[in-house]
Amino acid sequence: MGNKGESMIKKTIIIFLILTFNLYAAEMKHFTTIISKDIKLTEIDADKLAEKIAEMLGLSMHDFKGTVKVLKKEEIARLYKDLFDIKTDINSFYMLTTHTIYINVENYNEPILAHEITHALITSYFAEPIPIQIQEILCKSMEYITRKGLLNQDSKK
Ligand SMILES: [Zn+2]
Repeated sequence: MGNKGESMIKKTIIIFLILTFNLYAAEMKHFTTIISKDIKLTEIDADKLAEKIAEMLGLSMHDFKGTVKVLKKEEIARLYKDLFDIKTDINSFYMLTTHTIYINVENYNEPILAHEITHALITSYFAEPIPIQIQEILCKSMEYITRKGLLNQDSKK
């Protein structure tokens, strides 16, 4: 076999290793964040937030997999209308069936994301859905705690 053949094999092996590693890294993540094109911002580490929330609520995330989609406000409104046939100016919501958090770019901050992550975690944790009012209390508590900077307290000195 010539040099060309050998380097082809080497290249193939390297590409295979990179792909395997990427798959492995993706496996480890709970949340994948997708930011709508034309939007420029710094991604919030949803996994880090989720781990703190799970710890605080005493929930286990097991192999939870979800998506965070950051959209423009009008995109959210259109999507909500398409999905539920309701006209709304909602800023964020969690879609249970697809494990997806939709969030308006203007509301893309840690407290709001913490609110939606809490919906995601508690609905995936309990086999029987818990009443929406109780969910809201938990979600708003996590939102409040995050806003007050208490969620990340142990990571500060
Ligand atoms: Zn809520």
